[in-house]
Amino acid sequence: SPEAALVDGLIEAIPDFPEPGIVFRDLTPVFADGPALKALATAVTAPFEGRFDSIGGLEARGFLIAGAASIVSGAGVLSVRKAGKLPRAVLSQEYTLEYGTAALEVHVDQLPKGSRVLIVDDVLATGGTALAAVNLIERAGWHVAGFGAALELDGLGGRAKLEARGVETFSLLCY
Ligand code: 5GP
Repeated sequence: SPEAALVDGLIEAIPDFPEPGIVFRDLTPVFADGPALKALATAVTAPFEGRFDSIGGLEARGFLIAGAASIVSGAGVLSVRKAGKLPRAVLSQEYTLEYGTAALEVHVDQLPKGSRVLIVDDVLATGGTALAAVNLIERAGWHVAGFGAALELDGLGGRAKLEARGVETFSLLCY
């Protein structure tokens, strides 16, 4: 699609970041380009149209997509934050990183029970982050409407993990 081509043309491959041997996909040029960001926000929400009440943005790059997706869809943003950032009562979900663990948090009462949340992030790799967000949202009493990403790194198992969990998954691009 023209939207995919527009976004694709702006993604940069950065070798050896954040460590040797890793090729980091840098989406900051996409976020810096108005039409590309709008195209991305439109693309990740379109498959789920009419089926979500809120957009769960994953800190930090997911926030940028979620904010734009909010404007194109009319739904608000659920802040899914890294541990220790939210000021009120939270639910916390730990997940495993290559070295150690991290946690995602939401305010327990941020949305009414049963709210349908579309989760968005920039990149889907192993799916560990996305799955943590799914668990968190369900534990909070909300329903996961789906997961949308700009870019999916094929062969790392992210999509399989999400689909095995029953989560409809969309990515604009797949490398
Ligand atoms: P996963 O948990 O699926 O292994 O990794 C996905 C998370 O790590 C996402 O939150 C994403 O922002 C980040 N991530 C992993 N690899 C990349 C990459 O190459 N580029 C960017 N921009 N983010 C990445």
